[in-house]
Order: sequence, then structure tokens, then C-alpha cells
Amino acid sequence: MSKVAQIRGTDCLSICYMNYCGYFKTETQCKFCNIVPTKMDKKEDVVNYKFTEQLGQTAARAFKDVAKHAVFTGGRLPNGKETEQCIKTINAVKECIGGNKVPGCAIVSAPTSDSEIYDFHDSGISLLAFDLEIWDPMLFKEICPGKSKTVGRDRWIYALEKAAEIHGEGKIVAGFVTGLEPKESFLEGAEYLAGKGVVPINFVWSPGPGSAYEGERPPSAQWYVDLTSKLVNIWEDYGLGSFNSSAPVWCHKCTDNTLYNDEVRRRSSK
Ligand code: SF4
Repeated sequence: MSKVAQIRGTDCLSICYMNYCGYFKTETQCKFCNIVPTKMDKKEDVVNYKFTEQLGQTAARAFKDVAKHAVFTGGRLPNGKETEQCIKTINAVKECIGGNKVPGCAIVSAPTSDSEIYDFHDSGISLLAFDLEIWDPMLFKEICPGKSKTVGRDRWIYALEKAAEIHGEGKIVAGFVTGLEPKESFLEGAEYLAGKGVVPINFVWSPGPGSAYEGERPPSAQWYVDLTSKLVNIWEDYGLGSFNSSAPVWCHKCTDNTLYNDEVRRRSSK
């Protein structure tokens, strides 16, 4: 079971229902991503192709023993198949752990139809994340060519706003890989999205092996500390500061290459 899904931090079950992304096939993958090149390196440690039943059974055991919430993720599949696959997995987990809600976050591409957003809402998942990655329009096109061609920046932003309307303010997350665009550009996007009830979050860019940016250097630690502090200011300005404490599905014990939980905890300990 530990090869099917893994515990992240202390009590978060990380469910990667598919270690594959279709953008690699068309060479339009996000340039910081290495999900496919590292797939073969991990073949002894993880099952790459999983049946939903396996995922459901693994989740049942994990929730019985240790897990309190889960993240669902996988790469891009075309024609609504990504949504279909993710919801199928959420349903399998729901069936195995019981109840009609799943405490967790589904991290998926922004749906290209509103009906998919409603489907996610109806699935019982607590949080939804459509990671736009980059706010600047030209850099988004350059760094995320697949996302740009298949969904497009405008549709992505529309889907985030629509999902916040349907699922509720503070329950929709937009992840960004920071360090690839100017700080001001990310903060402009964060402010815009926060104003629409979407929670912008930032990841620290790690130029991983196998990614197009392997060997590049991210900005300094101080750059990230300053950026994160300004991001948390935005959360506070827009009433999203309670995101960390009120949503037991996303916490400092399980997030990894981020700093915002540290900043929130630093402020609350003062
Ligand atoms: S959509 Fe981008 S970040 Fe996500 S798995 Fe595919 S290439 Fe990687």
C-alpha cells in the first residue's frame, strides 16, 4: 500500500492517482516539472499505474491508522478525462472511508466546462486547487505552454473565480511556482485572486532533475521570505488569514516546499 499512496508529514495521505502528464507527449510540459522523467527512477518505490480500487483500499487503511486528510493529484489528461479520473478516485476513497465528504484537496487543471466544476463540488471534496503557476501572461505562455494552449490563461482565471462562487470563498486555491517571474507580477495576481475569494499560494521553485530548468538557480532565501510575508499580508487584507487554521485539510505538518505556513505560525506566535 505504501507504493500506492504515501503519508506526507504526519497525517496527510498523498494520492497521486496517475504519475503521468500528457503534456510531456507533446513536449508542452511546464518547464519546472519533472513528473515524467523521474517516473522511471521511482519505479521500485511507487506503483505508477493504479486501479481506483487499490487507491480506495489504501485510503481506507490510511484513514483508519493515521490519515486525517488527503491530497489528490495527477498529470493532465485531455477531453475532461483528468476530471473524470480524479472524481472517480475521490468517489472510491469516499466509499472506502465512509460518509459523503472527503477531507482533502483535489489539485487539477482548471476545467474547461462549468459542469466539471459542479461535478467537483458535488464530489464532496473540501478544497479544490487549479494551479495557474505563473501570473504574467507572456511568461505563463512560455513556461507553461501546455496549460496555455489547452486551457488558456483567461479560462483558467475564469474557472478559479467560478469555482469560488460555487464552492465558496477560501475553498479554492491557486498555486504558483514562485521565483520564475518578478515578485511584483506574482503579488499583483495574488491580490487580484484574493479579491475574488481564491486563496493564492506560493511554492518555492526547485529546479529538479529532468525538468527543462534543471541546473538553473532560484532566487535567494531572503527573496522568498519577503515574497511570502507580502503574500500573507494579502491573505489578511482579504480575510483569508484564517485559511490556515480553519481548514484542517491543509496544514504546516504536510505542506512541503512552501513557506507561508511558517509565516502564519510566526505571526500567530507573537
Ligand atoms: S500540468 Fe505541468 S506541473 Fe502538472 S504534471 Fe503536467 S507538466 Fe507537470
